[in-house]
Order: sequence, then structure tokens, then C-alpha cells
Amino acid sequence: MTDIWAALPKGESSMDMEFSPEDLAFQTEVRDFIAENYPAELRGKQDEGDELGKEDFLAWHKILYKKGWVAPAWPVEYGGTGWTPTQRFIFSEEIARADCIRLLPFGLSMVGPVIYTFGTPEQKARFLPRILSGEDWWCQGYSEPGAGSDLASLRTAAVRDGDHYVVNGQKTWTTMAQHADWGFFLVRTDKEAKPQEGISFLLIDMKSPGITVRPIITLGGEHEVNEVFLEDVRVPVEQRVYEENKGWTCAKFLLAHERTGIAGVASSKRGVERVKAIARTELDGDGPLIDNPFFKRKIAELEIDLTALEFTELRGLAGPNAGKGPGPESSLLKIKGSEIQQRLTELTLEAVGHYGAPYFRGFGEGDNEHPIGPDYAHRAAPTYFNMRKTTIYGGSNEIQRNIIAKMVLGL
Ligand SMILES: Cc1cc2nc3c(=O)[nH]c(=O)nc-3n(C[C@H](O)[C@H](O)[C@H](O)COP(=O)(O)OP(=O)(O)OC[C@H]3O[C@@H](n4cnc5c(N)ncnc54)[C@H](O)[C@@H]3O)c2cc1C
Repeated sequence: MTDIWAALPKGESSMDMEFSPEDLAFQTEVRDFIAENYPAELRGKQDEGDELGKEDFLAWHKILYKKGWVAPAWPVEYGGTGWTPTQRFIFSEEIARADCIRLLPFGLSMVGPVIYTFGTPEQKARFLPRILSGEDWWCQGYSEPGAGSDLASLRTAAVRDGDHYVVNGQKTWTTMAQHADWGFFLVRTDKEAKPQEGISFLLIDMKSPGITVRPIITLGGEHEVNEVFLEDVRVPVEQRVYEENKGWTCAKFLLAHERTGIAGVASSKRGVERVKAIARTELDGDGPLIDNPFFKRKIAELEIDLTALEFTELRGLAGPNAGKGPGPESSLLKIKGSEIQQRLTELTLEAVGHYGAPYFRGFGEGDNEHPIGPDYAHRAAPTYFNMRKTTIYGGSNEIQRNIIAKMVLGL
């Protein structure tokens, strides 16, 4: 195996920021914990470029849960860590630095905050502990054919029948729904009202009779997204979060959380170090690619943009609105973060050159051919294709620009 990692900086933070002695002790604690507890089997799969399954994601989730670190952003009363913004920053830096997989956001970063903010005491007691422990895997039922950017035009209908809603309709692009125990769905409960005012937010058991999940295979050949059909699905009224027809409030709150998570600053910083390490190993003529002035310039531009994004995120964490949850500025983080992630995959593909041409998805079921070229090249092409999604999901970047124009710039 080509050890490009040996070339990476090990100890120092790449940020010019003074940490207090307590913060430095915390950094060491996190670093040691990861080194001692990150599953070796998972690390092996990542190194080999194998496809990761539900059990892989849950393995790391459960280790962090046992330690009490699975939901740093949650209020302490619901299972959060109570860390300072600096500690949360250090934690995400260390997670990225050690190349740990990202925990899936649907429970922890999306529906969890909605439930502890808008849910009833019963809903909090029923759902939050199982999100933390990883017992329930969630999916997001927002988009429909014909209702993506214009989400408020969604047509999946929920009609009241006694103490149940009867739900009929179709959702699409539902990530990981094939594994989900529960889904949070936006449904229309009033057809006469203005679009945003007739929507409710329902929590639906994915094993309910009447739900069919069909795969959509993406450009990269992966089964990541699905179509979800709902036919006469009965949902108890107590599984509606917040008031009937006020679901749009929950929907917007959740999207702001989703977009902030998409920015992925810490993992992009690690990604830049990785591209640099590859470019130190790959040759361009007689010298390493990293010495090519054109390539060097692209890396420098990327790093400058990433540093600017990082400071924008830090301003949000430490500024006057800290603790109030993400607002429209999350659109800004989403645009820049997703563009940077795509540029990283482009540079990686460029750096591995012709080794990026064979298309290797990892040793999934049915794969029996060994990849060619160094191990860091194996997933360059599939990752490049897969990451085209980042400027679309969570609300496309064009829509985020509209939000900034209206909500931030007041145009
Ligand atoms: C990989 C992936 C995973 C996803 N996972 C989920 C999920 O788990 N759950 C879920 O609910 N959804 C999910 N989505 C759906 C995603 O949120 C939508 O794809 C997205 O909101 C765009 O909607 P659309 O695909 O219908 O495109 P459209 O809304 O049809 O847009 C098409 C194009 O037109 C542009 N456009 C549309 N309206 C405007 C406007 N007013 N101004 C300027 N430009 C505009 C868009 O930017 C886009 O480029 C996922 C999508 C992808 C690609």
C-alpha cells in the first residue's frame, strides 16, 4: 500500500489559532480516544476503498454514543456534550484529521433537533434516545417528482381519519431509505391553504403497510437514493410534530441544520492535505506534480477559499447568534462548502491521471477484479461522480443564492 499518509502533518492544527491549555488537553483526549477506539475493520475497508454499509456506519456511531460524544450540538438535557464552540471545533477537526467516517445526519443533525425543539414531551422521550443510540435509522421524505426546489408545491396528501392520518403520494431521492426504520415526511394536510400553510411534518414508521421503497441507481453506480411510494399508509396523529399545517416551520428549521452540515469544512481540510500528499507522490515529468506551478496554483486557490469558509463558520460558532441555531447564513456555508468538495474531487482525479480512468467502486457484492494503480487512485472516479450531488441536494446552490439575496442581502 502506498503510504501517502506518512507525509501528512501529524501534530499541529493547520489553523493559526491559540488554544487554551484546557483546549489542548481536550484535543489530546479526543485524539487518543479516536486512536484507541476507531474500528480497525472500518479503517481497513476505507483504506481498501470498499463500499460501506449500514453496519459500518453504526459501528462508529455506537462507539461515540457509548462515550457520550455522538451529538455534540444537542442541548445537554437531551444528550449533548455541553462543549464550548472551541471544543466542538476541535472535535470535528480531530474526527476529520483521523479520517473517521461522517455519521449519517438524518437522525442526529436533522430530525433530532426538530424533535427537541418542536416535539411534545412524549415524542422527545420516544424518539431522541433511539436516535442517539443508533437504534433507529432515519430518512428524509421531502422531495417529490415536481417538488424539489419548489418544495412547497408538494402533493403527498395526509387525510385525517379519526386518530390517524391516511397518507398517499410519492417521494423521491430519499437517501438510504432502503435501510431506514423511520422517515420524517412533509405532507399536505390542507389543499385550500397557501402552499406553505397547508403542510404538516409527520414521523412515519417505514415498516408501515403501504410503503414501497424502490432503488434509484446513481451516475456512480451506487444505490444511495430511492423512490418511496405511500399508499393508504395509516399514521397515528401523535406522530405529527408541531401543529397541523405548520410543518413548514419545522421544514425550514431542519433545512438550515442540513445545509450547515453539508459545508464539511474539517473533512475538506483533510481532503486538501490528501491531494497534496498524492501530488507529492505522483510524477509530472521528472519532478513531483506538487511542483507544477499550474497545479500548485489550483491547490493554493482552493486552500484560500477553504480558509475563508472556515473563518466564516467560526464567526457563526462564536458570534452573537451562537447557540441560536443556524440561520440563512447556512446557505452561504452550503454553497462554498459544496463547491470546494467538488473542486477537491476534480483535483484528485487530475492528480491520479490515467489511474483515474478505470472505474472501480470498491469490493462490493459481485466484484472480483483487482483495481490497478496506487490505492489512493481507486475511488477517485466514483467519488468525483458521486460528489456532483453536493450542489444539488439540501436545496440546489441556485436556490441558496436566491435565499441569500432575499434573507441576507434584503434584495
Ligand atoms: C444525491 C441526492 C440525494 C438526495 N437526498 C434527498 C433526501 O434524502 N430527501 C429528500 O427529500 N430529497 C433529497 N434530494 C433531493 C434534493 O433536495 C433535490 O434534488 C433538490 O432540492 C433539487 O430539486 P429537483 O431535483 O427537483 O430539481 P429542480 O427543482 O427541478 O431544479 C432543476 C434545476 O433548476 C434550478 N432551479 C429551480 N428553480 C430555480 C429558481 N427559482 N431559481 C434558480 N434556479 C432554479 C435548480 O437549481 C436546478 O439546477 C437528494 C438529491 C440528490 C441529488
